[in-house]
Amino acid sequence: MIELKHLTKRYGATLAVDDLSFSVRPGLVTGFLGPNGAGKSTTMRLILGLCAPTSGEALVNGRRYASLRRPVHEVGALLDANAVHGSRSAYDHLLCLARTNGIGPRRVTEALERVGLTGVARRPVGGFSLGMKQRLGIAAALLGDPGVLIFDEPVNGLDPDGVRWIRDLMRTLAAQGRTILLSSHLMSEMALTADHIVIVGKGRLIAEATVAELTARYPTLEDAYLTLTASSVEYGAGRS
Ligand code: ADP
Repeated sequence: MIELKHLTKRYGATLAVDDLSFSVRPGLVTGFLGPNGAGKSTTMRLILGLCAPTSGEALVNGRRYASLRRPVHEVGALLDANAVHGSRSAYDHLLCLARTNGIGPRRVTEALERVGLTGVARRPVGGFSLGMKQRLGIAAALLGDPGVLIFDEPVNGLDPDGVRWIRDLMRTLAAQGRTILLSSHLMSEMALTADHIVIVGKGRLIAEATVAELTARYPTLEDAYLTLTASSVEYGAGRS
């Protein structure tokens, strides 16, 4: 599981993440919502040890990322689908990741199959659509068969078939007992995909509830989101 304890990250005058505490539990898809600039990506980067907290901590399976013994087998992530070498093939991209982490080539083939890229595996990634790059990023996240998965806006750039595919994949991964943290701005899709919702605004926790609780109190998840984040903007106005 993932645990955030008073996690705080300051960039100069900006409090990107402000005393954030919540847990992401196994067996569930946790939707991570908030307006642009709310601190979602920074939180994910802090969990993955890509930047250091100003104070507080983020733990994966009870440890800071840097002290995980076999990180790719414990946590997989897709943060930026474009962060790939354009001249490398999908297969070679994954093979590099696999080789540097002691993972065999069979797992690369399986991951490509899992995301539906087998037919284009030998083509340079530079010619891939954003949706295909998202699929490649998901394959990379799944390479080490980790129990914890973090996906930042994986639905961006996907066609309706791809959107449905992501939904089914997230549900399947959670049903296998994995811990899934997923950010997206597509509220209708999130309502169908997630079990649990965490909403942040200006780096702070606004709400933590099940989708069922939110849709019992508001007509739709989108209404819940818009209402809760609107009041946070007022509350948070002038914070730095
Ligand atoms: P979100 O993912 O919710 O859109 P971010 O985590 O990207 O939000 O950003 C939160 C805030 O932190 C924003 O005000 C952003 O400009 C700021 N921020 C993020 N990364 C950096 C950085 N490396 N340097 C300075 N400010 C940053």
